[in-house]
Amino acid sequence: MIIYKKINDITQHLDNHRKEGHTIGFVPTMGALHNGHISLITASNIDNDLTVCSIFVNPTQFNNSEDFEKYPTTLDNDIDLLELNDCDILFLPSTDEIYPPNFIKQHYELGALADVLEGKYRPGHFQGVCMVVDKLISIIQCDTLYLGQKDYQQCLVISKLIELKGLNTFVKIMPTIREDNGLAMSSRNKRLQIGEFNNAATLYKTLSYLKNNIAPGDVNSIISEATNLLTNNGFIVDYIEVANEQLEIISNWDGKSKTICLIAASINNVRLIDNLILT
Ligand code: AMP
Repeated sequence: MIIYKKINDITQHLDNHRKEGHTIGFVPTMGALHNGHISLITASNIDNDLTVCSIFVNPTQFNNSEDFEKYPTTLDNDIDLLELNDCDILFLPSTDEIYPPNFIKQHYELGALADVLEGKYRPGHFQGVCMVVDKLISIIQCDTLYLGQKDYQQCLVISKLIELKGLNTFVKIMPTIREDNGLAMSSRNKRLQIGEFNNAATLYKTLSYLKNNIAPGDVNSIISEATNLLTNNGFIVDYIEVANEQLEIISNWDGKSKTICLIAASINNVRLIDNLILT
């Protein structure tokens, strides 16, 4: 695996591959890699001639400075994991490389999508995500971008960004990889004590409960049962919502259309998100 820290160097390398007609798959990450990230690397390796992973803890997407400061970094381990899983190139830029002093902030017109769920609880978060992904995809110019369903709203936001930019980058959304207890793998799980980690399985149990018990009609009573399940297990719940695939919130299910349930809840100040397709 080749590691690049400078935009000019990686651009030159990728240009040579593009001239050869090689396809490029790209997996953007914030590091502290786990099997969820690796599943994206594997998918890209299967589909493409070249796989590029980036590790960059993007300051502009953190609305909470403590969350940014406590974000885990495990670079040596990340490099080992990427090498072991045949990643071709790691892009490891500094903050100045991504946001030089002359960097001009844009506003991305994301519409209602960015105002609900994570957008509501983390103001400015998706603008920050778009800022970094816009920059990264302009550098990597990948054919396919690999994203995890765990961050379902982020997948829709990035798809919208690609549409706004008029790019023909293909977005592939890969399934959520889970721990044995059902907890979605996440870099933030590293901040959980063992008891909290075990308890955090309640998040997936709650989603499964909703999947098994959703019925046509008003969904509010099942949502309050789910909220109780989480609060009784020590969680502080930001939201539990049922929505359609475009993330329009549903309070009454017609019994036919596709639905997804999305949860954000904290345990001892570690904020976790997860989702499950219900129907
Ligand atoms: P992050 O490093 O958290 O920014 O995540 C980088 C990419 O990995 C994003 O597209 C995430 O959605 C994806 N990802 C994170 N956790 C998982 C998981 N448990 N399963 C699959 N993909 C994941």
